[in-house]
Amino acid sequence: MRSEQYDVLVVGAGSAGVAAAVASARNGARTLLIDSGPSIGGELLSGMTIDGAINARGERIIGGVIDDIVNECRALGGYARELNDWRLIRYIACDPEYMKMAVARVVYGSGAEVRLNTFADDVARNGDRIEGVIVRDKQGRSLITANIYIDCSGDADLCALAGGEMLPPDKDSKPQPVSMMFRMAGVETKPLLEFVRQHPEYFAVGESDAIRGGRSDHEIAEEIYKQGEPCVFLKGDADFLGGAIARGEMFPTALIMIQPTSAARREVCVNATRITLDNPLVARDYGRAFGVLIDQVRQCSSYLARRVPGFENAALSGVAPRIGVRETRRILGDEVLDGDDVFNGRKREDGIAKGCHHIDIHQDGTGQIRIPVADGGSYDIPFATLIPAGLSNVMVAGRCFSADRRAQGSARVMGGCLAMGQAVGTAASMLSSTNAPADVRAVPVKHLRTRLKEQGAILDGTY
Ligand SMILES: Cc1cc2nc3c(=O)[nH]c(=O)nc-3n(C[C@H](O)[C@H](O)[C@H](O)COP(=O)(O)OP(=O)(O)OC[C@H]3O[C@@H](n4cnc5c(N)ncnc54)[C@H](O)[C@@H]3O)c2cc1C
Repeated sequence: MRSEQYDVLVVGAGSAGVAAAVASARNGARTLLIDSGPSIGGELLSGMTIDGAINARGERIIGGVIDDIVNECRALGGYARELNDWRLIRYIACDPEYMKMAVARVVYGSGAEVRLNTFADDVARNGDRIEGVIVRDKQGRSLITANIYIDCSGDADLCALAGGEMLPPDKDSKPQPVSMMFRMAGVETKPLLEFVRQHPEYFAVGESDAIRGGRSDHEIAEEIYKQGEPCVFLKGDADFLGGAIARGEMFPTALIMIQPTSAARREVCVNATRITLDNPLVARDYGRAFGVLIDQVRQCSSYLARRVPGFENAALSGVAPRIGVRETRRILGDEVLDGDDVFNGRKREDGIAKGCHHIDIHQDGTGQIRIPVADGGSYDIPFATLIPAGLSNVMVAGRCFSADRRAQGSARVMGGCLAMGQAVGTAASMLSSTNAPADVRAVPVKHLRTRLKEQGAILDGTY
C-alpha cells in the first residue's frame, strides 16, 4: 500500500475543515486536506448565510480565517454583506459562486495540499493514538500518516473509525431534517418588502428581544423595508404559507427562509425543503431523500413564483449540489458543551472559539425550536469539547464536536464551525513543531488563545 507522511491531516473540507487546514498550513505545518466529494467549502458554497459570526447586538464575535474568505469574496467582486434578519440574528450573506473562488484562493494560498474524491476509509489505531488513516481514491487505498489528525467530517467519521465514543442520540426525537437549498434569480425586492410591510403577521419577525428592541411588528417591517434586502422568513404556521400547506400547494415546513446572494443577479437563496430521516448516515435512506427534496425544490420554487410578490418573473438559478445535513454523530469529548452554557452566554478562560446563534433545532413538519442566547450575547466554546475522549493525537471541529443537542443546535452554524476549525488547526501546528509524539492535551490553552488572537480570532471583550 502507498504511504505518505504529513504533519497534520484534516479530514473533511466543509467550513470547519477549510479553516483548520488554512490555520495549520499558515502556521507552518505540512498539512493535507482531504474530502470525499469533488470540491472544497461545503455549505459555504450553497448560498446560505454565514450565521454565528455576529451576535444579535451587532458585535462581531468571530474573526480570522472567516474574514480572509469574506474579504476575498468581496475583492473578487462578489456580493458579501452583513445584514440584520430582524428576527433572531445578524449574518453575512454571500454570493456562493464567488465563494467557490474565494474559499479555493484562501485554502490554496495557505500552502495546504488538497485531495478530492478521497474518502477516509479506515484507521490504524494503537492504544490511544491513530497511527495512520487509510484513504480510498480512484487509484485504490493508501495510508496517510500524520502527527495530528483533525476530524472535520461533520459525521465524526474518523473518530467513529477509531472506535471513539459518541454521545447518545436523543431517544425522544429524530435527528434534525435534511434539506436541499436552492436559489432563484430575477427577484424584485421592492414588491417583496412591500408585502412584508402590509402583512408582517405572515413573517417571522422580532423573535429575540435584542433584535426587537421594543418595536412592534409593523415597526420591524419598516426596518426590513429600510434595509432594502430580500431577507425575509415566511412562517409555516401563519395564514399565508399555512394556507398553502393546508391546501397541499406546499409541503409542511417551519419557514421559507429567503436570503440575498447576489444584487447583480437579483438572486436569493431559499431554505425550505425538509425530510426527517431516522439516521442520515444510512445511504439507502439518504439516497431516497434526494428524490423527495428535488420534488420539494420544484414545488416550492413554483409556489413562490405563483404566490409571493416579487417572485412573479423569478427563475430557478441553482440547486445545491448535495443534500445539507444538520445533525448526525456527536463525539464524546473531554467536556460536553450544554444548552445552558449556550443559553446563558457562558464565558470561559479556556474558550478558543465563540458562538452566538440561537438554539435552532429543526423538527418534522412545521416544527422548529428557536431559543435566542440571553441578551443577544455570545458564549465560549472550550478547547476540551474538541478533544475526543480516549484519543491523544486527534481533534474535532464542526457540527460533530462534543455538545448536547441544544448546544449543537446553536454552534453547528458556519461561523462556529469556522472558528472551531481555526482553533484546532492552530493547535495542531503548535504540536507539530515539537519532536515528541503529539498529545493534544499538552496544548497550552493560554498560548493557543494568544496565537489565535494575534491571527484575528475574537475571544474576549464581547457581550
Ligand atoms: C439545510 C441547512 C441549512 C443551514 N443553514 C445555515 C445557515 O443559513 N447559516 C449557517 O451558518 N449554517 C447553516 N447550516 C449549518 C451549517 O451549514 C453546517 O452545520 C456546517 O456547514 C457544518 O460544517 P462542517 O465543516 O462541520 O461539516 P460539513 O460542511 O458537513 O463538511 C464535512 C465535509 O467532510 C467530508 N467528509 C465526510 N466524511 C468524510 C470522509 N469519511 N472522508 C473524507 N471526507 C469526508 C464531506 O464531503 C464534507 O465536505 C445549515 C445546514 C443545513 C444542512
